[in-house]
Amino acid sequence: MANLTDVQSWAHELMAHHITERGWSFGFDHAKMRAGLCDFKKKRISVSRYLAARYEDDEVRQILLHEIAHALAGSKAGHGPKWRTIAKQIGYDGKRTHDGSAANDLAPIVGYCPAGHEFFRFKRATRPLSCGRCSRGFNRDSLITWHQRDAL
Ligand SMILES: [Zn+2]
Ligand SMILES: [Zn+2]
Repeated sequence: MANLTDVQSWAHELMAHHITERGWSFGFDHAKMRAGLCDFKKKRISVSRYLAARYEDDEVRQILLHEIAHALAGSKAGHGPKWRTIAKQIGYDGKRTHDGSAANDLAPIVGYCPAGHEFFRFKRATRPLSCGRCSRGFNRDSLITWHQRDAL
């Protein structure tokens, strides 16, 4: 569990170290679907206060590096080769994606297909869904069963 005061000081330290362009700032946001954000227009890197508080210190530093690499690579780079090269150079290990899937920790509904593939949702599905990894198209044999998780 990272402490938000620490997160803020790592952010300033890492940004000062890696970003030479002036005008970048850091802040927390309230996102639940993604851990970090790099806003090129506002020149602002932000991290979800909810997710930051749930992650281990190392994980949060990785999220910061992920976003710093976006700031360095530019908005057009996406997650392409330029971004990947920079991200690697500054120490991002790329073991997890931090654009959405990491936010699965916060999804209140989890589902499993008979083969054990895991799915996360923020809302209950309105019709039966089958596992897209087990079979293309709808298949009754691969129905996903949904479970509400405890309050997060
Ligand atoms: Zn990204
Ligand atoms: Zn499956």
